[in-house]
Amino acid sequence: MPVETIRQNIAAIRETVAKTAKDWDRNGDDVKLIAVSKVQPDDRIDAALAAGHRLYGENRVQEAQQHWTHRKEQFPDVELHLIGPLQTNKAKDAVALFDCIQTVDRPKLAKELAKEMEKQNRHLPCFIQVNTGEEEQKAGILPSELDDFLTACRNDHKLNIIGLMAIPPVNEPAGMHFAMLSQMAQKHNLPELSIGMSGDYKKAIPCGATYIRVGTAVFGERDYT
Ligand SMILES: *Cc1c(COP(=O)(O)O)cnc(C)c1O
Repeated sequence: MPVETIRQNIAAIRETVAKTAKDWDRNGDDVKLIAVSKVQPDDRIDAALAAGHRLYGENRVQEAQQHWTHRKEQFPDVELHLIGPLQTNKAKDAVALFDCIQTVDRPKLAKELAKEMEKQNRHLPCFIQVNTGEEEQKAGILPSELDDFLTACRNDHKLNIIGLMAIPPVNEPAGMHFAMLSQMAQKHNLPELSIGMSGDYKKAIPCGATYIRVGTAVFGERDYT
């Protein structure tokens, strides 16, 4: 994919973000664009890097290693966020590769991440993922368990929790879930909110998104075949 295509895609998203933010009395610069590179071919990722983009997200550790281990050596200013569910046995690799873990969602994982961060002396900022739709198949702590979990992450595990992340149910209006997450973040004085994807990032801006996670609108459709 030509660098120019990706550059234009990113510029178009930024313009939409800036406009929408202005409508809601926010500064568009406070909304950071995570380009989600999962399942994307190498040439598109290289094009995004050539276009100057430096903030990326991946949802699987092994794929992220393939995409980013060598590219991070080449581009040391790349910042990589884990936005997919993490198994405890991959915590070690995740802490070594990523710069932020957005999917802390259960006590066992919090404990393992804390242990690895201590071992590797890499104290990464983290988000707690909240399952706002209380969907059985979806990762994330239940809203009713957030208070206790956050306390444990902070006090027992000394994790640096900077915000909340959620993926709304596909068949419900996203805005309601974004607003719910925003209220939880405010209640706990958490400054960062990771909400909004290609189809709904505009709706995430009035709800206080500080990170939007956008794949398709940056890189084009993912080819799973
Ligand atoms: C894939 C993915 C995205 C990006 O989705 P698009 O619809 O392509 O923008 C965002 N967040 C998470 C957690 C994802 O897994």
